[in-house]
Amino acid sequence: TAPVITIDGPSGAGKGTITQLVAKKLGWTLLDSGALYRLTALAAERANVALDDEQALSELALSLDVKFVPGDYGQPVNVLLDGNDVTRDIRTETCGNNASKVAPLPKVRAALLQRQRDFQQLPGLVADGRDMGTVVFPEASAKVYMTASAEERAERRYRQLKDKGEDVKIATLLSEIQERDARDTGRATAPLKPAEDAVVLDTTGVGIEEVLAQVLALVEK
Ligand code: C5P
Repeated sequence: TAPVITIDGPSGAGKGTITQLVAKKLGWTLLDSGALYRLTALAAERANVALDDEQALSELALSLDVKFVPGDYGQPVNVLLDGNDVTRDIRTETCGNNASKVAPLPKVRAALLQRQRDFQQLPGLVADGRDMGTVVFPEASAKVYMTASAEERAERRYRQLKDKGEDVKIATLLSEIQERDARDTGRATAPLKPAEDAVVLDTTGVGIEEVLAQVLALVEK
């Protein structure tokens, strides 16, 4: 079976960037599991399904017609839902927050489980999420739990959004991050926490290159 590296942690800890860099460096497949929860939330919005209708949401999650299309060199993948490009639609703050509302529902998580495991292919997989090391790939060969202070994560997000020309307040982002953390860590099913055998990397004040080197060092062990 193909080796798996799991990269879990709270929103905005830099998992996405690091996962992409590690996958590129190793030439491995990438799983952005958060995108699946975001897609479920987006599909629900479009189908007028309430964000607490567990049965309907799990059916949606099971039948999602999703395609991850690798972008140009160095670019993240594009995401298609029912053949339409929703790469940007799933990246909004609203969609992220809605994703964290459907994510606690056990039937939704169960519906997405096999779809995530199907990404485990040779030569290997780098999986980004909240429960990659604890639930989806418990046998992973290397597990990372990447975190950073809420303030720093809000600041990073602020800079990203500002670069895109969006007008946001840092205090708003901080409280959204804290709310999302509370939902992700407080839920009963697959709560956000480091796997027992995960290496915890606190990236507060640490640059991307340094974090990447630390993760690659773990993989090469
Ligand atoms: O990682 P991202 O911010 O895209 O994830 C959006 C939301 O989806 C998270 O806040 C979390 O609630 C949920 N999620 C999850 N399990 C994962 C990945 C994401 O519950 N493996």
